[in-house]
Amino acid sequence: MNELLRAVSILWIAVALAVPRAAPAATPSIVVLVSVDTLRADFVSFNGHQPVTTPFLDGLARQGIVFRTAYSTSSWTPPAMASLLTGLYPTSHGVTTGNIQHLDHVEQPPLPQSLTTLAEMFHGAGYTTIGVPANRHLMARLGFAQGFDFYYRDAAFLPAARVNDQVRKKLAEAFGSHWRRTWKHGKVFLWIHYFDPHDPYIARHPWIDRYAPDFRRHRKEYPANLVMKEIKIRFPHPDAALGARIRPLYESEVSYWDAQFKQLATELGLADPDILLVFVADHGEEMAEHGALGHSQSLHEELVRVPLMVRWPEGLPHGAHIMQPVSILDLMPTMADLAGIPAPPGLQGQSLVPLMAENGNPRRGPVYMELFPPKPHLLAIRQGPWKLIRDIGPSGGVSLYSLPADPGEHHNLASARPKLVSELQRTMARWYRSLPPAPSQKNIPLKNKEIEEELRSLGYIH
Ligand SMILES: [Zn+2]
Repeated sequence: MNELLRAVSILWIAVALAVPRAAPAATPSIVVLVSVDTLRADFVSFNGHQPVTTPFLDGLARQGIVFRTAYSTSSWTPPAMASLLTGLYPTSHGVTTGNIQHLDHVEQPPLPQSLTTLAEMFHGAGYTTIGVPANRHLMARLGFAQGFDFYYRDAAFLPAARVNDQVRKKLAEAFGSHWRRTWKHGKVFLWIHYFDPHDPYIARHPWIDRYAPDFRRHRKEYPANLVMKEIKIRFPHPDAALGARIRPLYESEVSYWDAQFKQLATELGLADPDILLVFVADHGEEMAEHGALGHSQSLHEELVRVPLMVRWPEGLPHGAHIMQPVSILDLMPTMADLAGIPAPPGLQGQSLVPLMAENGNPRRGPVYMELFPPKPHLLAIRQGPWKLIRDIGPSGGVSLYSLPADPGEHHNLASARPKLVSELQRTMARWYRSLPPAPSQKNIPLKNKEIEEELRSLGYIH
């Protein structure tokens, strides 16, 4: 058995398929996709994070299937969310840039109308489709509302409590004043995108005192309640000490989100056994692991690994943790499969259903990631234990990591393993050449003023 195959077979460990299927699987009439912005895989406690940050989510995951090695397609919102919602790599959907941090130059390519989105797929199958995203990159006029019957069009950066209000509002619009009793009567696809773990890292009570017992006494040393731009000015040297100050703030935001999501999920009965619930993030966050803060600067694990959980107690095994690398691209074909809907042609992920089936261990291809200028221009491949990151900009650097031995990606093995490097580069080049190009599109300027006002109202700028 060669090294790669052996590593793949070691990595695929499905544990604790404790409960057999509860009932013959039909198809779910309620499908709920919950995505959380900037939520790192290793800060979710169903993936083992200590202290426990997500007690409510962990409880849901015990009746679901957790993918412990799930990757985004990129390391920031526009390319990643467009992939989640189209099942295509960024090169093929074209939403590769987008900038709203720098308020003097604000534009983003729209999600092309000619692509079939997840919402269009469900809409076409007779589902009422409702989308509530809290991230300006996902505004209706950037193409993200296509396929949705009801959409939170402004997609402002709202805290979870206010996102929950928007969900209630959209359900009331869709199903009338008695929506609480009636919203589950037909077929519904509901997508909620939360924002909280994203900067500014707000110190959330009561969790902050638990995660940073000295927070009250040393408040000034913590980069709390500041947007990233201000953090970078106030703390110009992102080192491990600063990372250690960010962690408890970030953890408190994750726990705040979990508590808020618990409220909404309890109120709406999202844990009902007949509901298909998919939980994921768009990308992670760096806390100085590679000398930087925030996201979109690299394709390292802290930025591209995301939590992923699929839960449908009536139709899927309970409690499995699958270690095999998968991609957020796999979610669209998976949801199509589980809902019994034909997937649109040309999807670039693979359904996770065979992997979730008991004793299933199908062969799966590598997972890829992309990042585009004006960010660093990078491609990455994860195959078996190996991750290779190639800079396709002028510097042309290559990094190779053995992730089981070096999960933090600190030891570049590229010069020690030239044969493996060329093998992985050839595989990556073949994949890249096979990608259909995105439909051509013109960037859409965003109105600076409304975004500025929104940021100001949230205390993000002064
Ligand atoms: Zn994001």
